[in-house]
Amino acid sequence: MNVLVLNCGSSSAKFAVLDAVTGARHLTGQAQRLGSAEATLEWTFADEKHTRPLPGADHDGALRAAVALLAPCGLAGTLCGVGHRVVHGGARFSGSMRITPEVVRQIEACVPLGPLHNPPNLQGIRIAGELLPTLAQVAVFDTAFHQTMPPRAYTYPVPLEWREAHGVRRYGFHGTSHRYVARKAQELLGLAPDAGALVTAHLGNGCSATAVLDGRSVDTTMGLTPLEGLVMGTRSGSVDPALIGHVARATGESADRVLDVLNKRSGLLGLSGHSNDLRTLEDDAAAGDARAALAVEVFAYVAAKQLAGLVVALGRLDALVFTGGIGENGVAMRARIVALLGFLGLDLDPSANALAIRGRAGRITRSTSPQALVVPTDEELMIAHDTAALVAAA
Ligand code: ADP
Repeated sequence: MNVLVLNCGSSSAKFAVLDAVTGARHLTGQAQRLGSAEATLEWTFADEKHTRPLPGADHDGALRAAVALLAPCGLAGTLCGVGHRVVHGGARFSGSMRITPEVVRQIEACVPLGPLHNPPNLQGIRIAGELLPTLAQVAVFDTAFHQTMPPRAYTYPVPLEWREAHGVRRYGFHGTSHRYVARKAQELLGLAPDAGALVTAHLGNGCSATAVLDGRSVDTTMGLTPLEGLVMGTRSGSVDPALIGHVARATGESADRVLDVLNKRSGLLGLSGHSNDLRTLEDDAAAGDARAALAVEVFAYVAAKQLAGLVVALGRLDALVFTGGIGENGVAMRARIVALLGFLGLDLDPSANALAIRGRAGRITRSTSPQALVVPTDEELMIAHDTAALVAAA
C-alpha cells in the first residue's frame, strides 16, 4: 500500500513515497527555493542522497521532476494514491477527503482563511492530478482534527457579524500531528482510541498544543491562523491585538506589514535578535547571552502557562505528550516545562528525559498519573494512512 505524500508550500514542495501499513520510507525529497535561479531538488533513495539544480523551476517543474523519479526507483506501479497536506479546511472538513471537483471548490473557498498556504496546496493537487491521472487523490487537512472543539473553545468574543460573515473563529492547526501522537500515546498508555485525557505539545519551528479528551480535540492553542498561541521560532504566538494598531501608528507601517513581522521576525528570533533555533539559543544562553536566555525562559514559561490552561478543557490530566523537533529532542526545554508544571503532579525523571531523543518514545517522568511522554510525530505516515484507508473504502 504505497502512497505518494505531497506537501506544497509557497516556495517548496516536499514529497515521500511510503508504505501506509509499515511506515517504511522508500523515497523522500524536497524541492526548495522554487521560482528562483537557485531552485534545487534533493531526494534520498536506498539510503543515498542526491541533489539536482532545477534553475527557475516552479511547483509544476518540481513535481514533474519528483514524479520522474518514481519509475527509475521502481515505485511507479506501486502507488495506490496521492495524499496531499492541505493547511486550511475551515469549518468545511472534519476529516480527510477523496479529492473531487467539489472538494477542490471547497478548498478554494477556504483560501481567504489560509491565503499563504492553500494556494500552493491547490497547485500541488492540480499538478498531481495531471501527472498521475489514474491515481486517487486525498486531501488531509491540518484543521480537521480540531473540528470536534465545542463552541466555548472555538468562539472568539467578537461581534456576531464578524463570526457569521467572515468565518472568524478558532480553527486550530497541526491536527495531523496531534491526532497521530495522541493515538500513539494512547497505545503507550494502554488506552482505547476513545479514552484518556491528554495534552499534546507539538513544539518545533511552529508550535501548538491540543487538549485531547477521549480521542477528540476539545481545545487547541492556534486559532483563526497559526499565529495564535505558544511562542514559536519566528511567530509571536498570542499578543495583545492592540499592539498591531499601536506599532502601525508609531512606525507608519501598514497593519499587514506589522502582522508579517509577528509571523516572520518575532518568537524566538524576535526575542533573541539573532536566531529562531532553540539549540543555538540554549548554547548562547549558556555562554552568557542575556537575550538568548530570556528567549529560552519566555518560550518555556508561555508554553507551561498555555499547557496548564488546556487542562481546564480536560478536567484532569493523564499525560502530557511532547513532539516536534523541540519536543522530541529538547531535553533541557522539556525539563524546564515539566518543572513549571510540577504543581499538576508531574515529576521529571532526568535520566529517562535524557534518553528520549532522536526518535525514541517513552515516559520521562517518575510520576505515572499524570505523566509526561515523548512521542515522535509522523505527519507523512498519518497522511499515507488516511489516503490508503479512503482508497480501500472506495
Ligand atoms: P518544523 O516545525 O520546521 O518541522 P522542527 O519540528 O524540525 O521544525 O523543529 C525545529 C526546532 O527543533 C528548532 O528550534 C531546533 O532548534 C529544535 N531542536 C532540534 N533538536 C534539538 C535539540 N537537540 N535541542 C533543542 N532543540 C532542538
